[in-house]
Amino acid sequence: MKLWNKKMETLSRADLRALQLTKLQSLVEKVDNQSPYYRDKFQQAGVKPAQLKSLEHYQDFPFFDKDEERLSQERSRAELGHSLGMHITCDAKQVNRISSSSGTTGSPTFSGFTANDRAIAAENCSRGMVRIGVEPGDVVLHASVLSMWIAGVPAVDSMMAYGACVVPVGALSGVERVAQIAEATRPKMIRTTVSFARHLAKTMHERSGIDPKNLGIEKVVVTGEPGGSIREIYAEIEAGFGGATCYDNMGATGCHSPTGISCEAHAGIHFYAEDNAYFEIVDPKTMQPLPIEDGVEGEIIFTGLERECGPLLRWRDKDIIRLDTKPCECGRPGVRMTFKGRVDDMLLVKGVNVFPNAVRDVVNRYGDSTTGNIRLVLPKAGPVIEPPIIVLVETPVGIDEAQQQKICQDLETAIHHQIRFRAKVVLQPMGQFDVQTGATGKSKLIEINAESHQLALEGKL
Ligand SMILES: [Zn+2]
Repeated sequence: MKLWNKKMETLSRADLRALQLTKLQSLVEKVDNQSPYYRDKFQQAGVKPAQLKSLEHYQDFPFFDKDEERLSQERSRAELGHSLGMHITCDAKQVNRISSSSGTTGSPTFSGFTANDRAIAAENCSRGMVRIGVEPGDVVLHASVLSMWIAGVPAVDSMMAYGACVVPVGALSGVERVAQIAEATRPKMIRTTVSFARHLAKTMHERSGIDPKNLGIEKVVVTGEPGGSIREIYAEIEAGFGGATCYDNMGATGCHSPTGISCEAHAGIHFYAEDNAYFEIVDPKTMQPLPIEDGVEGEIIFTGLERECGPLLRWRDKDIIRLDTKPCECGRPGVRMTFKGRVDDMLLVKGVNVFPNAVRDVVNRYGDSTTGNIRLVLPKAGPVIEPPIIVLVETPVGIDEAQQQKICQDLETAIHHQIRFRAKVVLQPMGQFDVQTGATGKSKLIEINAESHQLALEGKL
């Protein structure tokens, strides 16, 4: 098995824990010394760097989240004249690249990278490229957004540092342009979002006369949305690209993304960066730590271990993941993670935890009668919601009334069987949902709209 950094990627759990502890100790020491913000934060939480004698002690340190990051950056804009936050731990002049969050949940926040931060991101990217068999010199088509979002230009930066021949066509130039450039450059790999990969697979031939099956693309790396690990979705992408393999790629906020990639076994995303991206798993309701063991499911917490600019200690990523620690049939090392849903999107319907993306998965499994796009319409913000939940489902054109009735019934039954809550499915003709929204290409899964909810209940939507 070829690995980029065999030593770090195959460390035993005990060696890894020892290394993580050493790096955490120097990190808390550093932020305490160099950042008055962290010093105050530690004091308020009643913790001292010298107390950190084991990984368990690290659980006493306070969390960091998006709201805190935004406030810290508003303050630094006013007080220090930059947007990197009061928690910055390097000279602002050392910052070599600034990327931003997607901004899908409020105004964007910013991450600064020093040259060393960029180098670790490139190291992690290289680990992923070697794992999927992309070599330096291979042509890689970057058909994701060319924005300052972490999966945009920063990803291009890292792939070029690895030595790939990157063709940054972007996604906004449209299907025809991507098709033309792919035909002219013959990439081995294409990197894009799940939505755009599906869109390319479905529409490229018709729109450009170029069949994606004939482009010779061997690998489709998708990121930014969970679909890359859902069988129906990756199988559709693989078939659309003529039998290419689809890989799901993940990053970790506050760390040096990317941090993991799935494999041909499609058995979760192998996390390959534990030596520089420390993770914990907590119960999202109590925020108490859960054991790092096979099958555990909870909210993932990240700490980028060697971050020079603006380290985020114990970052609440608000993603619920399931951990697999058993060896994977592909033979590659690394625990595996499967995304289950967003903490903020989690709904509680008659005692059942419901994630909107799980509803989308059910719809996606149903086949070609829908486009796979969905939206939940809620009368008020969650998490506690009374059934039935209105599920808007987009359908292609040309579906008659009898078919429509059947689709609604089938989906309501499937949702009830598979997720165990009562849904009212309302079909929407194609074009009601944006294929891509915002800078990231992620689609919005929840709409809070009491009026639409009432209309849907009365069958008038
Ligand atoms: Zn594997």
